[in-house]
Formats: sequence, structure tokens, C-alpha cells
Amino acid sequence: MSDLTHSSFREQDGARSCDKVSVDRIHNRFQLRCGCEVGRQRRLCSHKLGVVLGEAAPFAGSREQLTSLLEIISLTPIPDAARQLVHLKAEREFLNQEIENQVEFLNALLEDVEVS
Ligand SMILES: [Zn+2]
Repeated sequence: MSDLTHSSFREQDGARSCDKVSVDRIHNRFQLRCGCEVGRQRRLCSHKLGVVLGEAAPFAGSREQLTSLLEIISLTPIPDAARQLVHLKAEREFLNQEIENQVEFLNALLEDVEVS
């Protein structure tokens, strides 16, 4: 297994290389970077989130490097934080849908008010 020690690997395939997540590691500190618009602002983008959740597609390195990265990350609070974020986003989506339904329901009531 390749390790990430002192590694700094960038995109290995040419396709959409700007949206790939790379890792810079020096000793026990590392940084995930992504070249997409959000990532360039050093904010969390879907690519970085995908990688910490184990997705290979947005990752610039090899499978072995991803496995190595995930092993390291598993010792940190990152996986829990990432899963919690995914959970909250799903909850928000559900609530947004519920709000939309409720707006339509109330609007329909207001279109045809009947008092008995
Ligand atoms: Zn990105």
C-alpha cells in the first residue's frame, strides 16, 4: 500500500482535473484541496465531501492512496462530521418539500374559503 507521507499528488487523469481533490501531506498534517470554484475559496465542496465519504471519482490520487487517506481520516472526527452533514442536508431537503406542500395546501384553502 502506498502511503501519503510527504506525498503531494495532483490530478492523474486529464479529464476535469480542476474538479479533482488532491491531498498535500507533510508529516502528520494534511490538507484536502479541490480546484473547483468552491474549493478554490477553501470552502467545503461536494468533491471533498465525496472523498471523505470514500468516493473514488473526485479523488486525484490512486485507489491505494484513497484507501490510505481514508484510514488516516477514520482516526479523526471527520467521518462522523461528514455523515452528520449528509444527514442534515437530507433532512433540510425533506423539510423544504414539506414546506412547499404546506404552502400549496394553504394557498388552495385561501383560493376557495368556505365558512359554514
Ligand atoms: Zn470541489
